[in-house]
Amino acid sequence: MGHSTDTPVVAGLPGVVLVGGGPGDPDLVTVAGRRAVELADVLLVDHLAPAEACSWAPDDAVVIDVAKLPRGPGTTQKQINELMVEHALAGRRVVRLKGGDGFVFGRGVEEVRACVEAGVPVQVIPGVTSATAVPALAGIPVTHRGTVQGFSVISGHVPPGHPDSTLDYAALAAAGTTLVVLMGVQTLPAISGALLAAGMSPDTPAAVVADGASPEQRAVFGTLTTIAEIAARAAITAPAVTVIGDVASLAPAASSTGGH
Ligand code: SAH
Repeated sequence: MGHSTDTPVVAGLPGVVLVGGGPGDPDLVTVAGRRAVELADVLLVDHLAPAEACSWAPDDAVVIDVAKLPRGPGTTQKQINELMVEHALAGRRVVRLKGGDGFVFGRGVEEVRACVEAGVPVQVIPGVTSATAVPALAGIPVTHRGTVQGFSVISGHVPPGHPDSTLDYAALAAAGTTLVVLMGVQTLPAISGALLAAGMSPDTPAAVVADGASPEQRAVFGTLTTIAEIAARAAITAPAVTVIGDVASLAPAASSTGGH
């Protein structure tokens, strides 16, 4: 039988499943995510993924902590993609366990592309993103009927004005939506400064929630003017989600801490 173009490149491969693992508590992994882990031969696990979920895998499954891969500038994602594809091409069921949702600042689509390019079947299981879940765990809704009709989720990885920044802080300040900042602990002074400079009200409530979904979870509250200093004084470190907007005052703890 000849090789025809419509024959799958690698027929019958188990392939790769990208699992969004949620914000860290294994109870916040989806049922579909758990089923995928239970069938895995190889697990490639991210730093912020729920590591405890690996115990659901078969006893002989190989668990690779990608945070421990040897690093060089820009090489880690390439190594992850290569490992994922290599194991799948060897006929193993690979689960790529990621933090939150793999498609929210998760580079999930780069991994999908690596699989597609290698002819490896790939499936995406969405996850509970920290962008909404971590505020929720602290009692903060990202929208509120009659007051806030939307939310914007941004990465604070690079500060405002940085050559790599593609964000329009003036537009964000004027948008009338809740602003949710991921990867923004170090850049919080610069981000709040840019929003203030763009005319956002200095009294806008703000909160930072760190280590969400873990026993170490804690939240600090303030205003756009005070939040960076309050977070620094409380020695808040990553991972943390910042919420800027009226909704930040709706958390039960917001009034008791008297941050604003
Ligand atoms: N794909 C992930 C986000 C990856 S970027 C998602 O959908 O959740 C990593 C950032 O997510 C962290 O810097 C932090 O801002 C946020 N984050 C992830 N897990 C968190 C947690 N358990 N508590 C607080 N912030 C978290």
